[in-house]
Amino acid sequence: MSRITFVGTSDAFGAGGRRQAAIFVETPSGGLLLDCAPTTNTGLAELGIPRDAVDAIAVSHFHADHFAGIPGFLLAAVYEDRRRRPLVVAGPPGVESRVRGAADAIGQGLAGRELPFALRFVELPAERRVEVGPAALRSFPVAHQPDSCPHGLHVEVGARRLVYSGDTGWFDDLPRHTRGADLFVCECTFETPVIPEHMAYDELVERAPRFACERLVLTHLGTALAERRGHLALETADDGLELDL
Ligand SMILES: [Zn+2]
Ligand SMILES: [Zn+2]
Repeated sequence: MSRITFVGTSDAFGAGGRRQAAIFVETPSGGLLLDCAPTTNTGLAELGIPRDAVDAIAVSHFHADHFAGIPGFLLAAVYEDRRRRPLVVAGPPGVESRVRGAADAIGQGLAGRELPFALRFVELPAERRVEVGPAALRSFPVAHQPDSCPHGLHVEVGARRLVYSGDTGWFDDLPRHTRGADLFVCECTFETPVIPEHMAYDELVERAPRFACERLVLTHLGTALAERRGHLALETADDGLELDL
C-alpha cells in the first residue's frame, strides 16, 4: 500500500492561497515526488515530509509551477539536510539542461558546487517504461503549451497504478490512458473552457464517465474552483489531502 499526499493543489498562480503542483507518493520502498514547484519546500515542511524521504522527483513538464522548485530543493538538501541519499530527477527529454538552466537563472546554480550525494537525471521518453526510484514510470504526451514538453505520467507501484495528467486540455485519447488506473489525478483549472491548454470543470463533468479508473481526483484548481470545493460533483484535492493507493 502506498500513501499519496497532495503537497500543492493550486493553478500556476497560487489560487485560493494554495501551493502549486506537487504530489508525494510514499511507497514501501521509497518516496517519489511528482512535480516540484517553488512552493513545494514550504509544503513539505508544513506537512512534516522530510526531503530525505524523497528518492526521486518526476517532472511532468517545464513550467515554473511544476519544476522551478527543484534548484531550491537541491540546495536545501546540501546545506540544510546534509543529504547522503542518492536522488533521481526524471522528466521529459532535456530535463537536466532545463533544471540547470533554471537554477542558473534564479541564482541557485549547480555548476562548480560539490554535492555530497549522487544526483542522477533520467529522461522519460514518451510511452517508454522507466524505473525511477521506487516506481515504474511511463510518460505520455498531453495537450498543453508545446515548448514546455508537456506529459502525463503513469506511475506503477507494485500492482497499483496512479495516472497523473500533468497540465493538459482535453484530448480524445486521454480516457485510454486512464484505463485500469486505481487513481487518476487530473488537472482542472477553470470552471468553463477558457483556453485549450487547460481543463475546465464543465467539460470534465460531461466527459468523466469516459474515464476507466477507480477514482478521479481533480487538482491544479483555479480561483473559482478553489472557492467551490466541497460543492462539486467531482472530487477535488486540497493541500495536505492524503489518500491510499
Ligand atoms: Zn501548472
Ligand atoms: Zn503548465
